[in-house]
Amino acid sequence: MKIADRPGHTQVSPGASKLVQENTVVREVLAELNPLLAANNEVINCHPGENVSYPAELSYGIKKANEVNPDLFFSLHANTAYNSYDGALGVEVCVHSTSTKGKEIGNRVCNNLSKLGFKNRGVKVRDSLAECNSIKNTSMIIELFFLEATKDVELYKKLGAKRIAHAIGNAIDSRISFEPITNTPANTVQANPNSIEYQAHVQDTGWMDEVKNGATAGTTGKGLRLEAFAINYFGPGTIKYQAHIQNYGWTSERVNGEILGTVGMSLRLEAFKIWIEGSNQKLQYRAHIKDKGWLPWVNNGEVAGTVGESLHIEAIEIKLV
Ligand SMILES: [Zn+2]
Repeated sequence: MKIADRPGHTQVSPGASKLVQENTVVREVLAELNPLLAANNEVINCHPGENVSYPAELSYGIKKANEVNPDLFFSLHANTAYNSYDGALGVEVCVHSTSTKGKEIGNRVCNNLSKLGFKNRGVKVRDSLAECNSIKNTSMIIELFFLEATKDVELYKKLGAKRIAHAIGNAIDSRISFEPITNTPANTVQANPNSIEYQAHVQDTGWMDEVKNGATAGTTGKGLRLEAFAINYFGPGTIKYQAHIQNYGWTSERVNGEILGTVGMSLRLEAFKIWIEGSNQKLQYRAHIKDKGWLPWVNNGEVAGTVGESLHIEAIEIKLV
């Protein structure tokens, strides 16, 4: 396959700057991605050079792409929509409405990045964008995540450019492995590469430090309500969770990174369920209840805690199994 690509910006027109700088992120990922693509494909750089500013850099990329007549062109960006955003916004890929192949590859890119934990915003039809409407062959604009979204940036830093590059590379060319291949000595047992992190909001205490992989979030023996929690899952599939709240009953589902429960309303979180969709990864979790202590571990989607007993959860533990 002949692939033409470019980083969305240059040093003199570096794009958006929020919690991280767009041009930096894009370079880090493309520096990992292009060698992966080049292993089995012809990769043509459509970057005009660092001293070319917008819009000349944009038109250079389009002109070059049309000259080399690639099977696929893409430019790499990171998104922005707000001055600041506390939470996750996620990945999207922009294509032209007539580009069947662009939608197909774009969907694979979004799906693969969502397996790494990014919220999947899906493929967006953007006929007005020059890179969507002026390149003869299949083209797409990859917007990796939102530069101002705290959870997106946290996830980017945690994953690193290499894992993201592998996920995109695998979406474009299935011969590229979804995860980087690590050389593990033959006689060592490889630990589960997936990870789960969670953070509890506790009565009179507020948000406590994030803990991971089976550690305790919340407090025990102090009688304090755990009022809310948020989970970040790093692995294949999508984590979902819901809770039973005093006076409200069961909430709707939350997905990776979203806050479940209430803050500042003095309401008990009485029970919860967690499950992973779209993957074989299993998990277990348990609740520490006022007057009862730790209840037994339960599996994927089962209820942890109590319903109808007016007892509050004090702490939770979650682990991948
Ligand atoms: Zn951009």
